[in-house]
Amino acid sequence: MTSPSPRLIEAVSPEVEARIRAALGREEALIQVQTDMAAEGRTFGRRWLAASSRRIVVVDEPSANGALSIPMAEVTRVRTEPLVGGGRLEIERRSAPTVSIPYTQSMREKFSEAARGLEQLRAGEPFLINPRLERLRCEKCSRLLPERDGVCPACIRKWSTLKRIARYMAPYPWKAATLTISSLVTIGAELASPLVIRRITDEVLVPVEAGDDGPADPESRLRLLGTLVLALVALRLVSWAAEWVHGWIAAWLGARATADIRGQLYRRLEMLSLQFYDKRKVGALMSRVTRDTGRLQDFLVDGLPYLVINGLMMFGILGFLFWMSWELTIYTLMPVPFILVWGALFWKRLRRFFRRWGETWSNLTDRTAEALAGIRVVKAFAQEGREIGAFARLNRKITKISVQTSVNRTVFFATVSFLTGFGVLIIWFFGGQEVISGELTLGTLLAFYSYMWMVYGPLEWFGQVNSWMTRAFAGAERVFEVIDTVPESYDDARAVRMPRMEGRIRFADVTFGYDKSKPVLKGIDLDVGAAEMIGLVGRSGVGKTTTVNLIARFYDVDHGSIEIDGVDIRRISLRDLRRQIGIVSQEPVLFSGTIAENIGYGKPGAKFEEIVDAARLANAHGFILAKPDGYETQVGEQGNSLSGGERQRVAIARAMLHDPRILILDEATSSVDVETEKQIQEAIQRMVRGRTTFAIAHRLSTLRDAQRLVVLEEGRVVEVGTHQDLMSRRGVFHDLVKMQQEASRIIAVAE
Ligand code: ADP
Ligand code: MG
Repeated sequence: MTSPSPRLIEAVSPEVEARIRAALGREEALIQVQTDMAAEGRTFGRRWLAASSRRIVVVDEPSANGALSIPMAEVTRVRTEPLVGGGRLEIERRSAPTVSIPYTQSMREKFSEAARGLEQLRAGEPFLINPRLERLRCEKCSRLLPERDGVCPACIRKWSTLKRIARYMAPYPWKAATLTISSLVTIGAELASPLVIRRITDEVLVPVEAGDDGPADPESRLRLLGTLVLALVALRLVSWAAEWVHGWIAAWLGARATADIRGQLYRRLEMLSLQFYDKRKVGALMSRVTRDTGRLQDFLVDGLPYLVINGLMMFGILGFLFWMSWELTIYTLMPVPFILVWGALFWKRLRRFFRRWGETWSNLTDRTAEALAGIRVVKAFAQEGREIGAFARLNRKITKISVQTSVNRTVFFATVSFLTGFGVLIIWFFGGQEVISGELTLGTLLAFYSYMWMVYGPLEWFGQVNSWMTRAFAGAERVFEVIDTVPESYDDARAVRMPRMEGRIRFADVTFGYDKSKPVLKGIDLDVGAAEMIGLVGRSGVGKTTTVNLIARFYDVDHGSIEIDGVDIRRISLRDLRRQIGIVSQEPVLFSGTIAENIGYGKPGAKFEEIVDAARLANAHGFILAKPDGYETQVGEQGNSLSGGERQRVAIARAMLHDPRILILDEATSSVDVETEKQIQEAIQRMVRGRTTFAIAHRLSTLRDAQRLVVLEEGRVVEVGTHQDLMSRRGVFHDLVKMQQEASRIIAVAE
């Protein structure tokens, strides 16, 4: 019939699968999802919802109940109802009660998608859903992910991540070589010391009969002692110097590599399209730049080098131990399997605590950031007490979890050292027996003893370093994920250069949706002449901003095309395109710095006179001069120290200086008072002259200057014409204007 359409299928247990199969018969399941709540009125069990094109099946957890099968023809409507902390999917039936399926917040998106699909199936429309929901759980191990669409810490491929990190050291081969050599020297020095101690014991301290291989007279013994102690001193010195070099290079390399990674990450973040940003929270991205790279750096400096050294040292020690006495080695290693098994078991438990701790912590951070950012709202509603209460609750929770985590961690490490203690006891017991029976020299026993501590010390450390590495690498993977995302390209050699556009714009059958299955714009056709001013009109949420976003190519159309001067904008050099588009939006964004800097933002190196001219045109010159610092006035964080109207005029001046061919005014006067609006309106009138303009305005009366008005409704262009045309046509636009007049009359009466 059609190409295989995407389906919304979740894996279920074989038993549930069988019951769904049985109910669906031979029909193919298109939807199959699980809730996390029982049917209303019951406290236990889950429900599953499945559907083919012909019927809907609902299966309940207690398996005795069989399945509820609803023929599609019986269904009159499917919809979702938002509730506090979740929602409910309702299947309304012709001649039977409505079936309702409750779910919690985390499943809201999945069920709204399912409801849409069911509605489409019921109405016989094409089955078009978005099966790629944001991943909350890891696909491999189904653990909860630390952030939506994030990296699962349990499933990262450590080895390939390590290799990738190592590639960042490649530009510094000499440093890397020095690091390796100093590591090997450190290891050598550490390993050699117990051997010297063995000689001191066996050849100097324990009296040896003359004639054997050792010197017997006290004088030569003393001399040997001096030499050997000197050797020990030399080893210490070498080890000290090597560690010094090692630490220095490791810090340098780690810092350099992370700085390179961080730089690459930020360059990529700046170049990524808005599509990427729509799906992610800015806070989460910030933490990739700061926290994730910071963690990686810590690990590269303090973790990885010692991991390598300790790892190699283990091999070296084991080699020496077996060489000295393989029997005793096997005895002393007896507790190791216990430590490993017990460690692995307990580690799982510990990880659960770590995870809970992390989740609560990020809850607390998010909540705090939100409450502080919205402090005005909190105060306006006098809800400080409520925020304090919410914080206190989370604070208590995190205290509790911190304590639990610490206690468990302490138990863990205490038990590890208890078990390792046994390894040492074994040396005394079995080794002591062998010394008595003459199979082993006392020196060898002491060397054994020193080596043992060298093994068990790092063993404890390995337990910790593993989780440390996991966290650092999970951070690295999050960073690499961004680095690997395809960016927007300003420098595509095949792109058409258009340094000077005329500004003719043509929409041909443009369809676009942020979510591909829910088009916002459906088949828009529109021809705009150079220097023409178009007023875009329509109800809130109809897609006006979306339309202008497409012109700036913040998003690419899904279907159809947009042409500027006859060239598809996807072929135009992005740099040329953006350079000739000026946008003034409802909430102008300013950066901290002076007013002059903000006006000059789009034109680095602009002369001061140019800035003043732009400000004059934007009707901003007056208010700027009235400030004590004039053009050098600091605008504050995000322009906070200016009023809305002032910010808006600075933004207009900024766009003026940019001198765009195409101008986009998206509700530029919506958030200012009437007096300021007049000033801004004047500035805008000067600005639109000679430029192709798309103006969106909340107050329809402000669009009188537009040559044509384009009215959008339900994603389509429904009316095009002058203000007068549309008013006399008495269609959608007429109704919108009337509605506004009505509203302003009510407001006028109220005042
Ligand atoms: P308007 O400007 O006409 O008020 P918009 O173009 O901003 O409307 O929005 C059109 C529709 O697209 C709305 O339903 C809105 O929720 C949705 N939308 C807008 N921006 C995004 C986005 N970045 N991601 C997903 N959906 C969006
Ligand atoms: Mg808008």
